Amino acid sequence: MPSAPLALSTCSDQTVCVIGAGYVGLTTAVGLAEDGRQVRLLEIDEARLQLLREGRAPIHEPGLDEVLTRVLRAGHLEVVQDITEGMAGAGIAITAVGTPPTVDGEADLRQVERALAQATEAAGEGAVVVIKSTVPPGTTARLAAGRRRGHGTPPLVMCPEFLREGTALEDLRRPARLVVGGDDRQACARVAELFSRGGTPTHITDSTSAELVKYGSNSFLALKISFINELAQLCEATGADIESVADGIGADPRIGRGFLNAGLGYGGSCFPKDVRALENVAAYHGPSFWMLQAAIDVNAQQRRRFVGKVASALGGAVEDSRIAVLGLAFKPGTDDMRQAASIDIIRYLADLGAVVTATDPVAIERATPLLPGIAMLADPYACVTGADAVVIVTEWAEFRGLDWDRVGRLASRRLVVDGRNCLDGRELARLGYTYVSVGRRSQTPD
Ligand code: NAD
Repeated sequence: MPSAPLALSTCSDQTVCVIGAGYVGLTTAVGLAEDGRQVRLLEIDEARLQLLREGRAPIHEPGLDEVLTRVLRAGHLEVVQDITEGMAGAGIAITAVGTPPTVDGEADLRQVERALAQATEAAGEGAVVVIKSTVPPGTTARLAAGRRRGHGTPPLVMCPEFLREGTALEDLRRPARLVVGGDDRQACARVAELFSRGGTPTHITDSTSAELVKYGSNSFLALKISFINELAQLCEATGADIESVADGIGADPRIGRGFLNAGLGYGGSCFPKDVRALENVAAYHGPSFWMLQAAIDVNAQQRRRFVGKVASALGGAVEDSRIAVLGLAFKPGTDDMRQAASIDIIRYLADLGAVVTATDPVAIERATPLLPGIAMLADPYACVTGADAVVIVTEWAEFRGLDWDRVGRLASRRLVVDGRNCLDGRELARLGYTYVSVGRRSQTPD
């Protein structure tokens, strides 16, 4: 006998369906399950599903494997493939699917539209559907207006995600703020209650404003990074030290020290695509957002300039030089390679005729298909063996902790070009290195 349609079942906010098991969806699902909710995690990618079913996280995030195992064993998290199963009895559905950039730099909303249609269709009476994916201003309102289901259509709430890869679980346990947007205030309050962790500052607003908070936040941080990188160029021209300058500027509480680290610029799955998407939205509405274009240009230039820095440190050209690149992931603590600076830098170096080897504590598997022909070595000491220059691209603590005297003995030359200003140049100079960094004076052997 056919069972009663699940869509009509009563539902409770104790049960949550998370759609998409990527960096956001998986960590959100695990975080909510850890908090005692009953979570169903829906994923369509077969390889990711398989790993999750074996209790293994398909992404690298500190602490994630342990919590995943715990919540799966406790039965608080179930991995599902079917939306009806996922939504049965669920009071809240969270779409955490990707919004990758199109070739024109707009946000591709097809995954969101599909997930939303599925959740709307399968939602029980009284359920709320939440968009966690980053979507351009006006999207939630447009999608809410365009849904077809009729009476009982679940309210749509926009709740942008601010977690940072590398500290995602901590960010979920202790969010700095919550932003919830939508027309239905009761639905917004339920979503705020789901994510709040006792006293989290919460801003309830309309969905378009919530969407702009997310784009505005990422774009502002990108502007800070590009600003400090331009200032670093002035430091190099004038002999000032960017670390001291950033410390002095950042000591002003109106500015803050965060995101004022000169280096190789921003990368990752969010900043590059969100800055471009916001610039696109601004251009569509008439006046362009000139500052964003400048931030994008500075960021691209920063990677090219760095390759020039490596070349001049090697005497003018990289051709036939052996260069060991330490760091592939776009930042420490993750294996995410999306828009990683390492991709551009390694490609530029290889195009200029350098022989490149590379290493990373966790990202080699993801990096290998993106950088064909580049020798990837898990052991950093093997990576630097015979190198004419050691180049730091990701500031992993593991690299700071290397035995740099041993590195010097293995390399053919004691030369470090530090794209993240993460090593102690004086100490390296004491060990006989020439040390070149960003916005600071180079150090030569004592
Ligand atoms: P991701 O690409 O890592 O993960 C998305 C997942 O959704 C994939 O595993 C995909 O297979 C799955 N998926 C797509 N359609 C589906 C469907 N219909 N049913 C089930 N699963 C489906 O993306 P991400 O990095 O987790 O980002 C998700 C969203 O969150 C993006 O909009 C992003 O901009 C935003 N965001 C990301 C971060 C971050 O640090 N990664 C931080 C804040 C916000």
